[in-house]
Amino acid sequence: MPEVSSLKSQLVEIVGAKYVTDELCDRLVYAKDYSIEGLSSDYTPDIVVKPGSTDEIVRIVKLANDTDTPIYTWGAGTSMSGNPLAVEHGIVLDMKRTNRILDIDTANLSISVEAGVTMDEAYHAAREAGVFFTHHPESSLSSTIGGALSCMGISIYGAKYGYAFDQVLGLEVVLGTGEVITIGGEAYLSIASHNLMNLFLGAEGTLGIITKAILKVYPPPAMRRHVSIGFPDVQHAMAACKRIHSAGCWPETVYGFDRKSLIQYMERESTPVPDDVRFAFLFGYSGDPDIVETGLDVIIRCASEHGGQQLPTALTKMWWESVNITRETFDKSNFALSHTEYEPDLIDACVPLSKFQEFTEYYEKLKVEFGWDDRNFGTFIVAAPRGPIPFAIYFSVPIDTRLGDEVDKWFEFKKRMYQKSIEIGGGLSEANGMGLRSGPWAKEYLGNAWRLLKGIKGVVDPNDILNRNNRGFDQ
Ligand SMILES: Cc1cc2nc3c(=O)[nH]c(=O)nc-3n(C[C@H](O)[C@H](O)[C@H](O)COP(=O)(O)OP(=O)(O)OC[C@H]3O[C@@H](n4cnc5c(N)ncnc54)[C@H](O)[C@@H]3O)c2cc1C
Repeated sequence: MPEVSSLKSQLVEIVGAKYVTDELCDRLVYAKDYSIEGLSSDYTPDIVVKPGSTDEIVRIVKLANDTDTPIYTWGAGTSMSGNPLAVEHGIVLDMKRTNRILDIDTANLSISVEAGVTMDEAYHAAREAGVFFTHHPESSLSSTIGGALSCMGISIYGAKYGYAFDQVLGLEVVLGTGEVITIGGEAYLSIASHNLMNLFLGAEGTLGIITKAILKVYPPPAMRRHVSIGFPDVQHAMAACKRIHSAGCWPETVYGFDRKSLIQYMERESTPVPDDVRFAFLFGYSGDPDIVETGLDVIIRCASEHGGQQLPTALTKMWWESVNITRETFDKSNFALSHTEYEPDLIDACVPLSKFQEFTEYYEKLKVEFGWDDRNFGTFIVAAPRGPIPFAIYFSVPIDTRLGDEVDKWFEFKKRMYQKSIEIGGGLSEANGMGLRSGPWAKEYLGNAWRLLKGIKGVVDPNDILNRNNRGFDQ
């Protein structure tokens, strides 16, 4: 890597002085994302650059190749897995200036955007044009399209419309060589030959820099309503979801919380959670009024066949508001409330449906072993894309990040959870990215497919410029 001063002057030539900084106070902003992983080492980049176009990005990538300088692509840094962190320092490439909505095609139901556009901006632009942009994570006010596509992001509307990767019709990507490729287009299924798009979805910036995306939008539903249902345990709740599926019911939202999480989410309103509820699902339904009414009736009926009881309306309203973070409901986010003392971190895993209970029990046992059984936050489950059957299960323990020992203990806790997931036939979920959190497990998890992935990396990024040594690529 060259002297930072020489790198800086070359970057200034490409993007202008206003968009390059090597000031420590600016660089520190990028030393940590929203995960605890950032505390495990010093990830401060040497320099931060904010390109405004694909051409500028190409020139930066070529410069990085010429000088053997790693580049870490950065959307909004809301990642919960350490995946944008500058493990080998070098350049942070902040994409937020690439934030133009390029086109909204209401006839063909697509929106074309630059990668630095936030989900909230895409949503509002689409809404003004009379269509519905459905990718809505809880971080939608700040997280970017590039970040969502790179992390396989999940959405509150995902049970009906699918998740980030389901929305993609076309991509423009700058490879690690500086070459620009475009895949797909505005027309649905316009991918010839192999679906190369999937290489870059969920790749967490390791295979290419997404610069533009063509995404699906939908006719907006006339209305949406919610109901929440409490169950005696996870198994009953899962059985109810299968029954709802067999009934032909297609909810828009399916979020599951254990009792502790529910109480935590509801504490602002002090809405009581009935004593016998150990697990609960929030269901949302959208469409014309008669469809919505029927859908919710079917959900309530199917759930009651599996021990489900409808929870108070106030609780449902509160729950929906706390996951549907918008400009109007920002102050209702439980994340904002929970960050006074402890920082919640995440373990996400895909375990077979029949193992959810076993995995949950293991988590509860481990919490006792680690002395954390009194801490709030617990188990969350989200539905599979386009269907009411859950697929990923999340566990969270709020950690006092001021205590080094506690952080180390948390890393050990996560290790044990990932080991258990693999042991019971599960794996690692990419829904929030793998990064430094579960990336180190990728090699073991992928087996000999890891060699294929390394081979692909060698072709698209031969000098290992992109997100070097992150997401398990140091192995
Ligand atoms: C309060 C809160 C709530 C959250 N809720 C959700 C949720 O409901 N659903 C969900 O899915 N996630 C959620 N997340 C996690 C996070 O917001 C998502 O993973 C999000 O998609 C990350 O986007 P970002 O723009 O912040 O990307 P960053 O954090 O900046 O980067 C994430 C990864 O993407 C790569 N990357 C970014 N831009 C590009 C690009 N243009 N090309 C190639 N690679 C790129 C980075 O290198 C990195 O590997 C939440 C986070 C917070 C803090």
